[in-house]
Amino acid sequence: MIDFRALAERYDTPLYVYDFNRITEQYEKLKKAFSGRKSLISYAVKANSNLSVITHLAGLGAGADCVSIGEVKRALTAGVPKYKIIFSGVGKRDDEIEEALRDDILMINLESEAEMGRVEAIAAKLGMQARVSIRVNPNIDPKTHPYISTGLHENKFGVDIETAKRMYIAANKSAHLDPVGIHFHIGSQLTELEPIKEAATIVADLVRSLLAIKIELKFFDIGGGLGIVYDDETTIEPYDYAQAVLGTLYGLDMTIMCEPGRFIVGNAGWFLTRVLYEKVNEGKRFIIVDGAMNDLLRPSLYNAYHKVEVVGKSEEGAPADVVGPVCESGDFFAKNRPLPPTEPGDLVLIHSAGAYGFVMASNYNTRPRPAEVAVIDGADRCIRQRETFDDLVRLEKMCL
Ligand SMILES: *Cc1c(COP(=O)(O)O)cnc(C)c1O
Repeated sequence: MIDFRALAERYDTPLYVYDFNRITEQYEKLKKAFSGRKSLISYAVKANSNLSVITHLAGLGAGADCVSIGEVKRALTAGVPKYKIIFSGVGKRDDEIEEALRDDILMINLESEAEMGRVEAIAAKLGMQARVSIRVNPNIDPKTHPYISTGLHENKFGVDIETAKRMYIAANKSAHLDPVGIHFHIGSQLTELEPIKEAATIVADLVRSLLAIKIELKFFDIGGGLGIVYDDETTIEPYDYAQAVLGTLYGLDMTIMCEPGRFIVGNAGWFLTRVLYEKVNEGKRFIIVDGAMNDLLRPSLYNAYHKVEVVGKSEEGAPADVVGPVCESGDFFAKNRPLPPTEPGDLVLIHSAGAYGFVMASNYNTRPRPAEVAVIDGADRCIRQRETFDDLVRLEKMCL
């Protein structure tokens, strides 16, 4: 049990709290599901990119899935071995590609023919051979929120099967490209197995047809996207997930890669905020807290549901909106939740805030970003200090 009151005393609010033992459990669950096969779990750094989180996962054997060169640098800084780092993302600058090649990471994930051309040219300039994989868009509806659905042709991600095949043939002929992997990622917060199975089937068929023309890939990367419980969702069991994917790989001896973000850290994190006061407008109850949408954006951005708890109070009260002080009507954490009466200073705990929480925080309204605290075996330590006003204005110049 984490003593949130003590943490609020020590570090103040608003605050992010992560349970590193929980992160370990999630990682091990997934690793175990793929045991008996060669597998690499590459943590999707964008979900929570705090260096201590990445270091902790690297210590367990995880690789890193990165979507910017900044994330590649984070992964290297945090101690992820270069041969476990993948660089994905729908648009990469030349300087990012060059740096990734110089860093000699495991592979660059290509998302278009044009991008393959850039990677080839830059590898040629450096006199190198670039290890690449291609992101295939299998045109599967993942049945998740449209903002986090990525596997349909109407989305900007990946290339269709025919294009992918053409690209593999070209890459295989190129002196500066080494096609080693294939990749798909159909969306995030997936709670149904069937779309994943369909996507894996389509992609595995492509791998077999490439093998028939002597193009042999080593890595079968099934992306991330495993959903978690925010409210009352039924989620996919790691064992069933692994079995579904492995079932499509008959005749193939490949290393399975997956890139979970939310699954690893989502329910290992909480956002802790303090009640400032309550007010009632025309019969509508508001609990106003010191955290806001700039700290935790998911409710505003996706209308996402997060469990909300008033620490130490369990009785149900009148429905209330939990809102922050930012000047936007979209600044809310929860709407119409039955919550106990609160007093100024009471602590409000927002659950499932470990993924896409702090990483999406901004300084909107000149609000410093919160501190982050890790709890490991019952001991807490600060893994990112709260920002100060000076941090916020440091890069600005008064030129008048
Ligand atoms: C975002 C992303 C992930 C991680 O998604 P989760 O839903 O957090 O597991 C994995 N791979 C790619 C390519 C991504 O863009």
